[in-house]
Amino acid sequence: MIKATQQQTKAHNRSLLLQLVYDRQQVSRAELARLTGLTRTTVSGLVAELIQDELVGEVGLGPSIGGKPPTLLQIVADSRSLLGVDLASHEFHGAVVNLRGQVQYRYSIPLKGDAEVDPLERVYELVDGLLPMCKSPILGIGIGTPGLVNSEQGIVRYSVNLDWRNLPLGANLKERYHLPVCVANDCQAAALAETTFGANKNTPNLIVVKVGRGIGSGIVLNGRLYGGYDFCGGEIGHMVISDEDVDCRCGHKGCLEAVASSQAILTRVQAAFSSSPVLSQMVHSPQEVDLQVLINAYHAGDTLILSELKRIGMYLGIAFANLVSVLNIHKIVLAGSLVVGASDGIIPSAYETMWNRSLDLLGKEMVLETSRLGNDIVVLGAAALLMQAELGLV
Ligand SMILES: [Zn+2]
Repeated sequence: MIKATQQQTKAHNRSLLLQLVYDRQQVSRAELARLTGLTRTTVSGLVAELIQDELVGEVGLGPSIGGKPPTLLQIVADSRSLLGVDLASHEFHGAVVNLRGQVQYRYSIPLKGDAEVDPLERVYELVDGLLPMCKSPILGIGIGTPGLVNSEQGIVRYSVNLDWRNLPLGANLKERYHLPVCVANDCQAAALAETTFGANKNTPNLIVVKVGRGIGSGIVLNGRLYGGYDFCGGEIGHMVISDEDVDCRCGHKGCLEAVASSQAILTRVQAAFSSSPVLSQMVHSPQEVDLQVLINAYHAGDTLILSELKRIGMYLGIAFANLVSVLNIHKIVLAGSLVVGASDGIIPSAYETMWNRSLDLLGKEMVLETSRLGNDIVVLGAAALLMQAELGLV
């Protein structure tokens, strides 16, 4: 019993030191002792272990403050390979990432036209394609998947997009690859990416809203991802926002994602195709309008698409006003190809609606911005999950 406690303390101290080396970029052993309150002997012993594991390296001497100049330590970013997988976009997207979130290799598998193939087989195909590209010991496989996920057990409880119910995805992957596996909802992973590798590193309170085929969010409160009662926190796509008679795939009407997702705008723009001279010049039929065509047409000055983007901004603004009132969060980061590709069409109207519909003191302080992590946001979040689970880095 006592031994177990000592081991736990040692593991805790080791994670603490690793976290400090990670956060400080370069730091000396003496500085680590001062910051943690641990003895220099304890610090030296644990640092020696971290150096032996090649997670930490010595990088030269720092400035002297009287005596011998101290040796500086830093994370060896390429000492581990992390496999990140995103199952939420129109193709399965994967990457090999290092400990600083730098993408070393990308691999994607399109999903179009093979409805009869089990998506799980495609996940295996993707991981099989990524594994040989790892140039250092593999920390594990992180997965961001759409749907309701029990991330503690690695079970996808329900995913409409992938037609999975109670799929033990984590256990399946562990059995096949004999590696640690983390599974989380894609939007929760995106939020973790933003606070680990994004422009909002270590921001204690924020919401990352991902607008794709569906809409979801990851909520970070007091530096921790908020999972809710059973890991489903942040499912804002099914907040009822509109009294329009628009069916949502959840079975209800007027949900946020039914009126403001990229699928929602595509459907409306395709239906109004003939009234857009810009679109008609770019493609021949409504069926050819995909998200990229839509974004290109917007930048070419299409007024139909501008009004549709404003409409999406308005609905997002209603949702944001509600979120701000409940959580008193002052920053929302938007992710997903549509909002990143056409942010100036969406964000001004989102701001306007949010200001009009929330208490002055709450709404006026709000900052909306787009993530700079682009299409890698979920794979980076999946990698961050692994760093948290396997190395204790948050
Ligand atoms: Zn719904």
